[in-house]
Amino acid sequence: MDNSSFRKYGHKVVDWMADYLEEIEKYPVKSQVNPGDIINQLPSTPPVQGEEFDNLMNDFNKIILPGITHWQHPSFFAYFPANSSKPSVLAEMLTATIAAQCMVWETSPAAAELEELVLNWLRDIIGLPKYFSGVIHDGASMATLTSLLTAREKISQFSINNKGFVDGNKFTVYCSSQTHSSIEKAVKIIGIGRENLRYIDVDEIYSMDTIDLEKRIKDDIQNSKTPLAVVATIGTTGSTAIDPLKKISDICKKYNIWLHVDAALAGSALILKDLQWMIEGIEDVDTFVFNPHKWLFTNFDCTAYFVKDVDSLVNTFGILPEYLKTKTTDVKNYKDWGIQLGRRFRALKLWFVIRTYGIDGLREKIRLHLQLAQKVKNLIEGSNNFELLAPVPLNTLCFRYFDPKHTLDELNSINDKLMQNCNKTGRAYFTHTKLDGKYTIRMVIGQTEVEEKHVISAWNLLNEELNKLLSEK
Ligand SMILES: *Cc1c(COP(=O)(O)O)cnc(C)c1O
Repeated sequence: MDNSSFRKYGHKVVDWMADYLEEIEKYPVKSQVNPGDIINQLPSTPPVQGEEFDNLMNDFNKIILPGITHWQHPSFFAYFPANSSKPSVLAEMLTATIAAQCMVWETSPAAAELEELVLNWLRDIIGLPKYFSGVIHDGASMATLTSLLTAREKISQFSINNKGFVDGNKFTVYCSSQTHSSIEKAVKIIGIGRENLRYIDVDEIYSMDTIDLEKRIKDDIQNSKTPLAVVATIGTTGSTAIDPLKKISDICKKYNIWLHVDAALAGSALILKDLQWMIEGIEDVDTFVFNPHKWLFTNFDCTAYFVKDVDSLVNTFGILPEYLKTKTTDVKNYKDWGIQLGRRFRALKLWFVIRTYGIDGLREKIRLHLQLAQKVKNLIEGSNNFELLAPVPLNTLCFRYFDPKHTLDELNSINDKLMQNCNKTGRAYFTHTKLDGKYTIRMVIGQTEVEEKHVISAWNLLNEELNKLLSEK
């Protein structure tokens, strides 16, 4: 493709992008295709001769787009938001064009320095103490793995990196039963064995029970185990429950245990001053992660990982082959701050987003989402057909259809059917979890352009589909 074609098609693609965002509500939120529908329309061998770009765009529109679930649709209430925004998309275009590898400072000084700057901005606006330093990772799973590896190295005086495990089975890690699966994955990878992950009980609002936590730690110490780390969650995946950080951090201090905070979704809400209570106890936290790519209008991938002790991090991950040695000192070489060597220039989109919205603009959006969640909460509480299954501290609603005449199994199957039927309409998209064995419909309000009308329409859809389902019986 020569430059004049690039320019021509570039303009066409930007027009496509603007049209898409303008008309996104005409698409079904959840892709309605069946397995194999996409691949069966495509040739099984690649073209020998190059093709015209117009052909590619035609196939993209005709074949690919129907197989896309529209995460940027304002009626996307499934899983968690994975937000983009227009300034973020524009930055991604620039990043893709420059296509720099940002391993060390010298491979693109601006990428390294902007990453340092915007993460300081983020640290300050979400209320972390100044002695935290940040780095961008691809996902919260990667950041949590990085944290637990650092904990493992620090407690072993960096000997496991050098010699391997002598006594791998001795370490234990603690998290609540509501914790994200990435903790279990990390525990498997760091080599201490899944059997040594302790799932701590939760209370009636699904927050970690710190009495159980301390008891399990004491039991383990008595059985010659070494408690390695506790992972506290601010905003669990199922119901956005908030673990009591202050109490957990006091226990970690008492027993000298590493403390990691997983705030992947909810961390963004800390830009609201009145939610700062969620991180009371932050002074005693070792590492903290949240995802601007979830709820801060920044394209995937962009995870903000903050650490108190940079030396331990770099001692765990630093490696210096001859071909990466540079003469520049006193600069940040982010390849040593995690697992990835090659790194995209991800700070640019965050910078564009923060500057375009301003802190006030970001706050306004998050506040709206919290208000909309309270609105739906009131609708559920005022309804004879639905019941809430968890408190609504943030933007996630957990609820189900309920009538005492049904057994638990019947309720579970009715709610499953109800949710599938709603999703089949393409008008909104919900996903589910199980809380205490109850099939729970989740509605997460956080899409960049969601407004009250989308939320009301989703509520109407649930009621319409429920009435249809009940009248079938
Ligand atoms: C989404 C989420 C994760 C995983 O995030 P990735 O960036 O996809 O790895 C971990 N923990 C919580 C609480 C989450 O909400």
